Amino acid sequence: MSPPQTQNNKDSLKDHIVKTSHLTAIVCSTCGRTFSIVEIHTFCPDCQSTLIAKYDLESIRKETDRDEIRRRPKGMWRWHEILPVQNIKNIVSLGEGDTPLLPLSRIGHELGLSHLFIKDESNNPTGSFKARGLCAAISRAKELGINKVIIPTAGNAGGAMAAYAARAGGMQALIYMPKDTPNANIQESRITGAEVILVDGLIGDAGRMAGIRAANEGWFDLSTFKEPYRVEGKKIMGYELAEVFDWTLPDVILYPTGGGTGLVGMWKAFAEMEALGWLNEEKRPRMVSVQAKGCAPIPKAFQAGASFCDVWQGAETVASGLRVPKSFADRIILSNIRESNGTAFAVSDEALMQAQKTLAAQEGIFAAPEGAACLAALEELIKHKWVKPDEKIVIFNTGSGLKYLDTVIN
Ligand SMILES: *Cc1c(COP(=O)(O)O)cnc(C)c1O
Ligand SMILES: [Zn+2]
Repeated sequence: MSPPQTQNNKDSLKDHIVKTSHLTAIVCSTCGRTFSIVEIHTFCPDCQSTLIAKYDLESIRKETDRDEIRRRPKGMWRWHEILPVQNIKNIVSLGEGDTPLLPLSRIGHELGLSHLFIKDESNNPTGSFKARGLCAAISRAKELGINKVIIPTAGNAGGAMAAYAARAGGMQALIYMPKDTPNANIQESRITGAEVILVDGLIGDAGRMAGIRAANEGWFDLSTFKEPYRVEGKKIMGYELAEVFDWTLPDVILYPTGGGTGLVGMWKAFAEMEALGWLNEEKRPRMVSVQAKGCAPIPKAFQAGASFCDVWQGAETVASGLRVPKSFADRIILSNIRESNGTAFAVSDEALMQAQKTLAAQEGIFAAPEGAACLAALEELIKHKWVKPDEKIVIFNTGSGLKYLDTVIN
């Protein structure tokens, strides 16, 4: 019996949730300092690093049956034991998660690959996978009594934050975005009641301005990796992949990287699932971080053997979600890629626009330019014989092409 596709009203969820979160602590990713879960946290005050949520995986292992989770109503919150919200009445949901994993048989055949898939995140609320992270972060913000949230954004994160803040009720939203952000992101933010400030500059400039405003007026800053919960929402993509592959993982994952929450989140999910004993084999995927040639700090640092990124100067690409000159968690991203025996690869805007057409025309998937970049990168990795024809490969389409109509070339 399969659960209904469109659920996630709180009543159906309540019926199924018997235990809530097993969150135990918030821990600094660098110095290991531990923080209480009942307080509000941003990043580590001692070493300015990202804070990470820790769970009592041993008790989840004893009490939770991975196959029981499959029978719960669809959506991200069926994984509530390993999500941070303590009281389910604080869950702010718009039906995020459980996006389809679609085979790409026609493109796969042309590329000589027998097991090529796309995880199509465009089905999320607000048309991008940013919904997952902001859903978790806004729910936790609500739980901790926060009622003013601010974000600097390259686009989709702002729209998602605005939507979840509206859904939460009584939460004010303030957004700083570069003035050349896609119009869809500006309009979706404004119509959901957020104040939008357009910045003459890049995401880093927006971040500085938002940071000052946050400090002066007491807004809670939801910048990527500057609070511990967005990555928790994103990690569920890793759990969904394991589940759909019958508790094994694919050989290769291509992920379009801006701030890197999805990549870091999935890597965390794989470690958690190993500790939970939920994986039938302990073989993790090789993680490929895909960026655009006009803003490629991760590939540059990866190829140079560096442990952190330099700020990329003059960042420019139509894939606005990838226009992040330096991630706050660059060290974690680079270390996760290396631990996975993965790689980092940049593609030109021409190549990713071509791949966007191919995905649409061959498979009916109108992907965001960021998602299309993964297909363009895969084509190059095949030429370099970096992937084998029979490997299980998953590319991530992180958003809908409909949000980028101003840049589509037809
Ligand atoms: C934000 C975004 C990305 C990058 O995601 P990160 O988790 O920040 O690396 C990729 N694609 C789209 C469509 C985005 O909105
Ligand atoms: Zn620290």
